[in-house]
Amino acid sequence: MKYIGAHVSASGGVENAPLNAYQIGATAFALFTKNQRQWAAAPLTEQSIELFKERCTAFGYSPKQILPHDSYLINLGTPEKDGLEKSRAAFLDELQRCEQLGLDRLNFHPGAHLNKMSEDDCLKRIAESVNWGLSKTKGVIAVIENTAGQGSNVGFRFEHLRAIIDRIDDKQRVGVCIDTCHAFAAGYEWRTRDDYEQTCKQFDGIVGFSYLKGLHLNDSKKDVGSRVDRHHSLGDGVIGLQLFKFIMTDSRFDGMPLILETPDETRWAKEIALLKTYSELSPVSVQ
Ligand SMILES: [Zn+2]
Ligand SMILES: [Zn+2]
Repeated sequence: MKYIGAHVSASGGVENAPLNAYQIGATAFALFTKNQRQWAAAPLTEQSIELFKERCTAFGYSPKQILPHDSYLINLGTPEKDGLEKSRAAFLDELQRCEQLGLDRLNFHPGAHLNKMSEDDCLKRIAESVNWGLSKTKGVIAVIENTAGQGSNVGFRFEHLRAIIDRIDDKQRVGVCIDTCHAFAAGYEWRTRDDYEQTCKQFDGIVGFSYLKGLHLNDSKKDVGSRVDRHHSLGDGVIGLQLFKFIMTDSRFDGMPLILETPDETRWAKEIALLKTYSELSPVSVQ
């Protein structure tokens, strides 16, 4: 079963996210549980939490269909002491919000070394930050998102994801989310059947499909290996539609949230409907 949705607005309260998802025909959704561009946020109210849970039940969204995303400000691998403390506290708050909402995974960007420390030290620091956050919470999986490798961001090689996972104490509570645009911009070619199978094989060998907890489905404005992160609507970018046909007919992506982060939200309902039709194709017909 493919769960297909988009990163919907939670403006006015987290309880609005399941409603917004339902209205575009989504069977999965992503959300920010607080304003993603601010450090501080008011705690979730009891009323908001209850209504969120009620609506998820009413519209048929279970935790495996929901992929909350943390704040863009958080850098768990930062070389700067103040920034690190702030980031860890904010990450813990994000994990706790997921706990309160009954959600089982939190998608985060690994971090950036700001050209002040080595890539490996940065990966080590990220793992320490995640271990710290996990030790203070229960039941939420920290889901590392691969990056495009823009600026000094780490996480653009599958080896980086593996280097973090290797250092996580509780392997049951770490996972990954692959963003199709980020992987492509980072240099992973997967527009033809052969390249797709090759990239999936690499991912499986280095990270492992057992760690995959979700996908971000985005076309890309920038070319393969550009290391530039610019999402595009499906079919309008450099990747094209074929990759999404491969994914939708691949059972390795069953049972997890598959989330659009494409820039034109007025097209989400159509994009979801298109992906649903792809998911009904026979895999052998998609070459
Ligand atoms: Zn992201
Ligand atoms: Zn993404």
